[in-house]
Amino acid sequence: MIILKIGGSILTNKDSMESEVDYTSLERIASEIKASMDVCEKQLIIVHGAGSFGHPPAKKHKIGEEFDKSLYPQKRLGFCEIQNEVKKLNMFICEVFIENDLPVIALPASSFISATDKRITNGNLDLFKNYLEKGFIPVIYGDVVLDSSLEFCVISGDQLIQFLAKNLNPSQVILGTDVDGVYNKNPKTHDDAIFFEKFASLEDLDALEGTTNVDVTGGMVGKIKELLYLADLGIESKIINAEVKDNIFKVLENREVKGTIISRGN
Ligand code: ADP
Repeated sequence: MIILKIGGSILTNKDSMESEVDYTSLERIASEIKASMDVCEKQLIIVHGAGSFGHPPAKKHKIGEEFDKSLYPQKRLGFCEIQNEVKKLNMFICEVFIENDLPVIALPASSFISATDKRITNGNLDLFKNYLEKGFIPVIYGDVVLDSSLEFCVISGDQLIQFLAKNLNPSQVILGTDVDGVYNKNPKTHDDAIFFEKFASLEDLDALEGTTNVDVTGGMVGKIKELLYLADLGIESKIINAEVKDNIFKVLENREVKGTIISRGN
């Protein structure tokens, strides 16, 4: 089983305050996944980020922050707005996948996962397993969920990766984003950023500088924290550049692709 995340940075114009799908990338990625499925059918789970569909409304409504009880109806409506926005993105994505003959089935986190203090504490994956056994490709994405201490929170695609991998024990965990992997600082703003082939500890993380854009879920730092947690459980993951043509195909086929491996081993 492979868990593949496609970052919001690839599928949308994340810097934009508008909700825009990057159809060029989406079509290419769908065809690369299909090409790999044609080589050999595999159990695949797709996780995608919310990008410009999720982050601006999540920021606007300050979901995941404590709030006064009198604001509950407003917050609840904000929650609904975000849920609806990310569902739209998911619908566009699934549409393209289905056009490429990929049997995707959307399983939104808001309909079966809940959290405590922004961490997933409940989520029955039986249906996920059933769909996988029947050859479907479950698709889940960054979403809002009920939170027992904060009422509502945002769950990133990266936290979903961690939750799914911990519970489903995949053979590969792959994260496609818009850079080659992890650097000591943001490679988009620093020409001298140093690339890490392997990332193993929080000490390496100390060298990292902030994150990018309007991502309310942690950007690269949040991603790495989730993956280091998986590494602690002995599950290795790899961050690759999904903007590079054929990278997704190659990584699904277990071929060599530039990227950063997150692992505690040597
Ligand atoms: P995605 O939406 O694909 O999950 P994010 O936008 O959350 O990805 O994170 C990827 C972005 O993180 C890259 O576009 C890059 O500019 C930024 N970034 C910030 N710091 C780093 C770093 N140290 N190494 C790599 N990328 C970084």
